[in-house]
Amino acid sequence: MITNNSEALVVFSGGQDSTTCLYWAKRHFEKVRAITFRYGQKHALEIELARQLAEEAEIEWEMMDVSFISQLSTGCSLTDASLAIEEKKAEDTPFPSTFVPGRNLFFLSIAAVKARELGIRHIVTGVGQADFSGYPDCRDNFVKSLNVTLNLAMEEQFVLHTPLMWLDKCQTWAMADELGVLDTIRQRTLTCYNGIPGDGCGHCPACQLRNEGLKKYLASRSL
Ligand code: ZN
Repeated sequence: MITNNSEALVVFSGGQDSTTCLYWAKRHFEKVRAITFRYGQKHALEIELARQLAEEAEIEWEMMDVSFISQLSTGCSLTDASLAIEEKKAEDTPFPSTFVPGRNLFFLSIAAVKARELGIRHIVTGVGQADFSGYPDCRDNFVKSLNVTLNLAMEEQFVLHTPLMWLDKCQTWAMADELGVLDTIRQRTLTCYNGIPGDGCGHCPACQLRNEGLKKYLASRSL
């Protein structure tokens, strides 16, 4: 049974949310490691930025290739180069076109096996349901349920941490600021569906959410 409480493994994409979680973990744990998944995303830059951000944060980092998950299902605009990325729901599904079925199920399960291998109990993920875009595996009940399942599967006492679960984007920026990394996260992370780091393209749904949250936060800060 793993009893190490001083170390955490962060599921890290190099976007705003998981980078905020990386620094949150650095605040709460003595040692932090990060794992980035290659799952067939269109923008390879995402992985390179994640590597650089981890290096800058002085975090041990590794990339794991799980691109097979994009072959399991079709029609996801994040992994299918022939599809344009939009948040609109497809006609026969309740999900936006950016939904990768099972993505967080795979990521968190693989992270837990890796964590066990490394003797780490604490796993951190940036998923949240406040700015809810319709992904069922970002919800609190899913994460809690998976936590139980992982513990049963490996007879361990993993703790899945979701520091952003109930925060909207404005509150996530506030957390980044409080952690002293607002500028790093603003300039160096990639959230944009069109693969443009920092403030991004400005018009895709991810940029709109991120930029509106930032505008709101900066306005509240200057009051
Ligand atoms: Zn964008």
